[in-house]
Amino acid sequence: MSRILVTGAAGFLGSHLCDQLLEGGHEVIGMDNRVSGQTENLDDAFEHSAFSFYEHDVTEFIHVAGDLDAVLHLASLASPVFYRDYPIKTLKVGALGTHKTLGLAKEKDATYLFTSTSEVYGDPEVNPQPEDYRGNVDPYGPRSCYDESKRYGESLVRAYRDKHGLDVRVARIFNTYGPRMRIDDGRVIPNFMRQALTGEDLTVYGDGEQTRSFCYVSDMIDGLVALLESDIEEPVNIGNPDERTINELAEVVLDVVGSNSGITYEELPPQDPEVRRPDISKATSELGWKPEIPLREGLIDSIPYFKKQI
Ligand code: NAD
Ligand code: UDP
Repeated sequence: MSRILVTGAAGFLGSHLCDQLLEGGHEVIGMDNRVSGQTENLDDAFEHSAFSFYEHDVTEFIHVAGDLDAVLHLASLASPVFYRDYPIKTLKVGALGTHKTLGLAKEKDATYLFTSTSEVYGDPEVNPQPEDYRGNVDPYGPRSCYDESKRYGESLVRAYRDKHGLDVRVARIFNTYGPRMRIDDGRVIPNFMRQALTGEDLTVYGDGEQTRSFCYVSDMIDGLVALLESDIEEPVNIGNPDERTINELAEVVLDVVGSNSGITYEELPPQDPEVRRPDISKATSELGWKPEIPLREGLIDSIPYFKKQI
């Protein structure tokens, strides 16, 4: 059994990761300042005696008593709408929060996992994106608070590995969806689900021909745990390569919900990436991991949660 700190524990991915680690027999310490998280995401975790929770902003000094075997840093603003609303908090959690959590991992001699993002590739000029693609990010652009904080975070992780010999993992996560996403976080699947379930028009931004590749949450959590348990200290893409246009996604959501909602086309947010699809050959060959849940199935499994939120 290991003792593991999870930052961003009240969030979508963090709470599912806590549950999976607790099921695996680990002791889990969750930490979150709840800027975008929801405490009810931790209802299952609180049932375990091996779970404890600290409300704390990880951009401030972090004290955890006792040993730690791993520090998993998931805290961030993660939805484009939220990080546009909170650009400075986003930069601080990617930079200062990563620094504080790395310092803690060094102090405890713990393995460190950083949740990076497909956004380090920006608006990619190659598709799919392999890990050695260096990206196309505008450092002064409207999404740069997120993209650059994650790129800086990766760099800081690299420096702690090189300078202090810290045992590190870097997951580049691609669009993930499922229960426990905030219905109001502005990401495309919560928006489309809410709209389809309430009979409002689905809001497709731009012409809807931009693409994303959507991974169901259980697959993502399996991938993150496989990466943690590996010894790969280089970045690894984790995502589902099933690439769809946003128009296709809208059709699938309408179909699985059985909704009569129409579609309204709205202005495309500035610098919205045109394509995004992970090359997962590294994860497949080195972790023996690949996603299993098809888009339709994952959306169907998510409907009861989104209905309850409404
Ligand atoms: P989320 O918003 O649901 O969860 C993030 C959590 O971090 C929230 O509970 C929030 O309150 C917390 N947090 C933010 N700033 C904090 C701070 N300073 N101190 C303490 N807690 C803080 O997001 P998510 O979708 O679960 O994403 C988790 C991680 O995965 C993030 O680092 C995100 O960048 C990354 N990621 C997610 C996706 C995705 O599709 N979900 C894609 C790429 C990368
Ligand atoms: N999008 C959309 N309608 C919405 C919300 C998002 O068409 O109501 C589009 C958005 O412009 C982007 C894609 O869906 O092209 C995915 O957006 P999301 O905010 O989920 O995440 P991103 O991949 O941009 O980080």
